Amino acid sequence: MLQEIAEISDGKIYGVNDMVKAACNDCEGCHSCCEGMGDTVLLDPYDMWRLTGGLGKSFEELLAAEVELHVENGVIVPNLKMAGENNRCVFLNKAGRCSIHTLRPGLCRVFPLGRIYEDGNVTYFLQREACKKSNRTKVKVSKWLDTPELKKYHCFLADWHSLKKAAEQICNAGEENSAKTVNLFLLNLFFRKPYEAEKNFFEQFYERIQQVETVLPGYRENL
Ligand code: SF4
Ligand code: SF4
Repeated sequence: MLQEIAEISDGKIYGVNDMVKAACNDCEGCHSCCEGMGDTVLLDPYDMWRLTGGLGKSFEELLAAEVELHVENGVIVPNLKMAGENNRCVFLNKAGRCSIHTLRPGLCRVFPLGRIYEDGNVTYFLQREACKKSNRTKVKVSKWLDTPELKKYHCFLADWHSLKKAAEQICNAGEENSAKTVNLFLLNLFFRKPYEAEKNFFEQFYERIQQVETVLPGYRENL
């Protein structure tokens, strides 16, 4: 994995206090990374809390228009829908700007950086060719992420990543019923079950994750 990252990055690993050449003049005149992304703009539970609360829509309502589900490494995951002739993100407006800028998912916030998950920590790398603007300027990683409570956010990201990896192990073990049970459980618990928009996301996530042991016993130890 780190070898793959080395091939597409500038060879550096960035922490939140580092400066990185990612700022692209507010994407002026460009929306290249908001179209043709297929099913790669994955949504995590934090994204779902932000979208359902901010748009005043339920998960089911989002599924009817803006979000779809696909299977990745055996696990069902939601992603933002691309649609129309140019396969544009459904939230890209006619002027070529993001219509949900303050609610945009974590993967949109981080681009053109990528995340590295290692030993329970999250760090970042710069995807060299990902952004179409060549005259990018330096910005502090924490500013670029534009996400409050970064420490808690990173703990959540690491825990969600571990949970997905544990689910992948079960879903790829060849036992169809187990895979179905795990997928339905995670989908219902972390996406379908409504979040309280006014309540802190992390509190809600960690209340829910306590229930995971019932379906994925010892999932942390097996990683
Ligand atoms: S390719 Fe770069 S400049 Fe264009 S929209 Fe994406 S991040 Fe902004
Ligand atoms: S949510 Fe906004 S930033 Fe993300 S792909 Fe869609 S239009 Fe682009």
